[in-house]
Amino acid sequence: MKAPGKVNVSLDVGPLRADGYHSVASVYLAVSLYEEVAATSTPTPGITVSISPDSTLDLDGVDIPLDGSNLAYKAAAMMADVSEHATGVHLEITKRVPVAGGMGGGSADAAATLLACDALWNSGLSRDELAQVASELGADVPFSLLGGTAVGLGVGDELSPALVKAQTDWVLVAADFGLPTPEVFRTLDRLREAEGLDADEPTAVDPKILQALRSGDADALSRVMVNDLQRASIELAPGLRATLGRGEALGALAGIVSGSGPTVALLTHNPAAAESLAEDLRHYGLTAFPVHGPVHGARIISDTLL
Ligand code: ATP
Repeated sequence: MKAPGKVNVSLDVGPLRADGYHSVASVYLAVSLYEEVAATSTPTPGITVSISPDSTLDLDGVDIPLDGSNLAYKAAAMMADVSEHATGVHLEITKRVPVAGGMGGGSADAAATLLACDALWNSGLSRDELAQVASELGADVPFSLLGGTAVGLGVGDELSPALVKAQTDWVLVAADFGLPTPEVFRTLDRLREAEGLDADEPTAVDPKILQALRSGDADALSRVMVNDLQRASIELAPGLRATLGRGEALGALAGIVSGSGPTVALLTHNPAAAESLAEDLRHYGLTAFPVHGPVHGARIISDTLL
């Protein structure tokens, strides 16, 4: 099964709530950088996880747990609980989405695992029931299952799909470090407190963002993309400012930190512009991939669908 990573084209973040979470209003875009999970039955009960040597990321020194704290493991455990014919299972994950990069890579692994175990064990769950299990696994898992473009409210888990047929072209610049999402939120709270700013509770996204996505108008989109977490990510990793500046100097229409970062998403006019920008960024030693969105959510990989 494969499942896409995401870029938050807009991300408004409310104040810290009493329950420790933040309300958000965000436009999610699934992009053509995919995680893959292969699930195979094992003769012994239990769940094991490995990372495929086909992973395209440089995973040296990167912390991916292979135990019960791996999101794919958790997804398989939840599917085993609700599947009458569950067996032991081995999950092999091919990592392509930057780890702790703000693109929901672990969530994509969980989404792919839900479908893989569903197919392996014939769980009989409906797509809605799978989405319910997904939301219990984490705020970004339902979106990776759904794919496409969606507005996320609540903690990002109240999703409404948006009909977007036009494609936008991006270059993702991966960092060689991760940023823990909770720390980025805490940093934003601290910056706001120091400024005496009270953020409003976000209740909706700017309709101009959806209009620009629907019409594939990258120029219009470049003027309205926004990420409230960006300044917190830059506070923690000041080098991101230079990456954004480099991308724009080399011709990107606009750049934004994706989610909690540190991956940077640079918007371009078309696929050729994305290819050439990625190439130029590589000359500066940056890890850059051209991608497009929206793409499908988690789905089976077969010869007919590739
Ligand atoms: P989020 O924005 O949801 O935090 P992210 O894309 O920034 O997502 P992930 O790559 O999903 O970050 O992983 C964040 C952390 O979660 C990692 O540092 C790792 O320790 C842990 N983790 C758990 N399961 C996985 C997984 N399957 N792949 C990668 N990291 C995982």
